[in-house]
Amino acid sequence: MNSSSDKYLIKFPGGELLYLPREALILDRIKGRTITLHKKKAPSLMLDVKLQGELSAYKFKPECLTLYISNICNLNCTYCYIPQKELYPVDSYINESIVESGAQIVAKNCRSQNLPFVVGFHGGNEPLLILKKVESCLKICHEVASKENVQLLAYCTTNGVIPEKTAKWAAATFHGITLSWDGHPFFQNNFRKDKSGYETSDFIERTAKIFIQSQNRPKIILVRCTITSSSVERMIEITQYFKSFGVQKVEYYPVFQNRTKPIPDEMIPDPVKFVYHFIQAKSFGESCGIEVLFSGSRVRDYHGRFCSTIQDNLTITPDGYLTNCFQHTQNYSAQDNLFFYGEYDHDLRQLKYDHEKLGRINDIQSYKPTQCSNCFNQFHCSLGCPGICPFNDNFKLNSQPDCIKEKWLGLESLLSAAGYNLYQLSEPELNTFFNAVTYPLI
Ligand code: SF4
Ligand code: SF4
Repeated sequence: MNSSSDKYLIKFPGGELLYLPREALILDRIKGRTITLHKKKAPSLMLDVKLQGELSAYKFKPECLTLYISNICNLNCTYCYIPQKELYPVDSYINESIVESGAQIVAKNCRSQNLPFVVGFHGGNEPLLILKKVESCLKICHEVASKENVQLLAYCTTNGVIPEKTAKWAAATFHGITLSWDGHPFFQNNFRKDKSGYETSDFIERTAKIFIQSQNRPKIILVRCTITSSSVERMIEITQYFKSFGVQKVEYYPVFQNRTKPIPDEMIPDPVKFVYHFIQAKSFGESCGIEVLFSGSRVRDYHGRFCSTIQDNLTITPDGYLTNCFQHTQNYSAQDNLFFYGEYDHDLRQLKYDHEKLGRINDIQSYKPTQCSNCFNQFHCSLGCPGICPFNDNFKLNSQPDCIKEKWLGLESLLSAAGYNLYQLSEPELNTFFNAVTYPLI
């Protein structure tokens, strides 16, 4: 069935809703109400049906620059998603000429679309360990932004295990900071030890206080917290703990399997438990002023797989490649595959796209598991990424995403936006409820 008609009849015990994802509308015909969801800008490729499958027409126009400045990290987290990072060179840093070229590409696009120029430091390293490099990249981005006459908004993701002075500098410098923090010392110290095996909770608590209590605090502070089978039943308590530090926004994400360093299956939280405790924590958060978010389906955002190109994001590795995948943070062995689609040309002194690869990437992006093509959630869901990746040779259209959390929490968001709250249901009742929901495309 063609997903472009995009009208889903969501039938659930106690009601039914008509959901129009492209229009961001929910119609409650029984109660005679229309609910408009706050509509976010969709990445170029996602909502334009004409572009899907007609890739020569699609021009990749990144609006955001992400810099992976090095491979250096001071932690050894149990569930780090970067494979074999101990083998990467520790003296390899992103080159300033490459940053300038990337900044020029992105800032020009932002100017033509009247958008601020967003730069983010992220990915497979701890950026705030190499402050001089971050400062020089920011200086370049400021200069380019000023030439293009666009506003620069700088973001950073950090593990928070950084010197006090650095934390103060970061608080005064960045528009937004995402702090990877697993909550209570018990969880933080268990799963996020430093490279020498030391506990890190005291450091991250100090950093969080600096970020949150600084006079010039970042406009946006988001805590990202990994949930495992040992923390899933304590999500209210963890939310309470964050609240005690003044956190206003926390995003929970259930730990996922790694590509090359598998984590024990028993560490992955049971999806039904995750959904139940997430809804409880969200309701608790609403009662005390802390926004509790899920890292998967977010019906107020349009998003798909985490690939950079589909997110209109230009991401540069420390060795100067353009990467399409958050799990591929370097290309030291010069792999010729679709995870990398460009590199820096030292003679021309600019980043060069591989247009043939970009075309194939865009083409493959339109492949969806059959199950997703019929799903109400397909514009708000990672479609099984990273477990199901269309750029892997073993990808099949009949792959079955293991997506209870995404589907049920996508439904929960739509239902709660329409005024149907599920937090009074017990875990078994919730299981029965969601298993009874149907959502045919009509
Ligand atoms: S779909 Fe594949 S390439 Fe894209 S982010 Fe996910 S794992 Fe990476
Ligand atoms: S079938 Fe699952 S993975 Fe696919 S869009 Fe729906 S919720 Fe997401």
